[in-house]
Amino acid sequence: MSATTASPTAPTLLPPPAVGTLPVLLAQQQARSAVLRREDATARAARLQRLHDWITRNREAIQQALYQDFRKPATETDVTEIYATQAEISHALKHLRQWMAPRRVGVPLALLGTRSWVQYEPKGVALIIAPWNYPFYLAVGPLASALAAGNCCVLKPSEMTPGVSALLARLVGEVFEPAEVSVVEGGKDVATELLSLPFDHIFFTGSPQVGKVVMRAAAEHLASVTLELGGKSPAVVDATANLRDAAEKIVWGKCVNAGQTCVAPDYLLVHESVRDALVAEIRGVLARFYQPEGGSVSESASLARIVNGHHFQRVARLLEDAQRRGATVAVGGSVDQTQCFIEPTVLLDVPLDSAVMQEEIFGPLLPVCTFSTLMEAADFINARPRPLALYLFSGHDENQRYLLGRVPAGGACINETLVHLGHPELPFGGSGNSGIGRAHGHYGFVAFSNEKAVLRQRIGATGIKFFYPPYTPKVRHMVDMLLKYLG
Ligand code: NAD
Repeated sequence: MSATTASPTAPTLLPPPAVGTLPVLLAQQQARSAVLRREDATARAARLQRLHDWITRNREAIQQALYQDFRKPATETDVTEIYATQAEISHALKHLRQWMAPRRVGVPLALLGTRSWVQYEPKGVALIIAPWNYPFYLAVGPLASALAAGNCCVLKPSEMTPGVSALLARLVGEVFEPAEVSVVEGGKDVATELLSLPFDHIFFTGSPQVGKVVMRAAAEHLASVTLELGGKSPAVVDATANLRDAAEKIVWGKCVNAGQTCVAPDYLLVHESVRDALVAEIRGVLARFYQPEGGSVSESASLARIVNGHHFQRVARLLEDAQRRGATVAVGGSVDQTQCFIEPTVLLDVPLDSAVMQEEIFGPLLPVCTFSTLMEAADFINARPRPLALYLFSGHDENQRYLLGRVPAGGACINETLVHLGHPELPFGGSGNSGIGRAHGHYGFVAFSNEKAVLRQRIGATGIKFFYPPYTPKVRHMVDMLLKYLG
């Protein structure tokens, strides 16, 4: 792959599905889901293993599709798309039996003599709608959870990354029967048609705006939803932080995938006493990462491009608007429309009403704001919609506890960025504007499962029968005892 190849001349998507075919597909999957419901862990594991093996065999094709869509460096694809997906599948394979096993629960005194457990059953047929920014991982990761939980599944990839969309269609066509898993390619129209159908669960990853559309559509069928949304995730750097270390982690978190990461540190909140020192460190890190031999950052083969002209314009406008309102560029600042290239850019003195501080950036721009007390930093974040991720760089335990205890967020990292999402034992998801529900590992399995509550009673005399009508004085006495001793 040549680093100079111009980005996206995309292959065409499959033609949109013919009118009326999607309800037929859903009906086929609904019929098939009755079979999957009865399968044991071995059958589910076989399906997951086929998925894992396909990815191993097609590593290069995955790299090429991502490179073609937005010049994502192969190394980034290996780590953030292939490894991340395979780790999710391997974790499910390792724990599937344990996840599927009924979970015994205790017996309260009032129900003595009974036995109870939670039985996990598949929801049925799931719809997964994926975004373009990690177009492979954010499609196949949820698919692995859906399959681990025993569901059939329709997957709609993003139309913005047609290379990966076509690859996903091939993957699914080669590995699964259409009645078990199907890819339906297309954009908003196709998504709208899919959303009009009565799926049992909708797993959506994308913007908060479209998340609302999805939730409204789900309400029509009372389908359950997982909404993995975005927003502005702050990185707070206090005066006790190791600035060199913080700068490396912030630059990596901001620039991997060219900043098009839902949990990228969106803006910096840095203690006023260390702002300039931190910016100097960031400048050094950017040069080491993207200009190791001098030259222009745009020549770096380690930096992806903005996904398309529309998003390039959007990010370029954020930069222009900030500068017009008085922000200054401390590092970077160049853009090249012909390559959908935006240089990693640090902005100082950014007015809070500028678009870059109002909207999710989703590109390699880093506005830097300052605070004088940690309370001020917490209030600043809490005055805005709830972030998907909160990052704190601090060498001080008390400061770490303070911020974690005061700022609600979907997830948090202390002295790190992004990697909490790679921990399979941690739930991943948002809060409020950044999402509803949880993904990954066991949490992903549960998202696609119905937790059926089962109580088994003895036959014959049971404690409950003391409370049956007619409500004689004896029954009322028993009720009084119940409230007095067990209520
Ligand atoms: P998007 O909301 O524009 O699109 C996501 C999906 O929804 C695509 O498949 C698209 O075809 C479909 N879609 C678009 N308009 C629709 C409509 N009106 N009705 C139904 N479906 C529609 O999001 P995007 O631009 O692909 O992704 C970027 C956003 O996703 C950012 O906000 C980012 O933070 C968020 N995101 C969140 C996570 C997470 O895990 N929380 C991960 C990645 C991206």
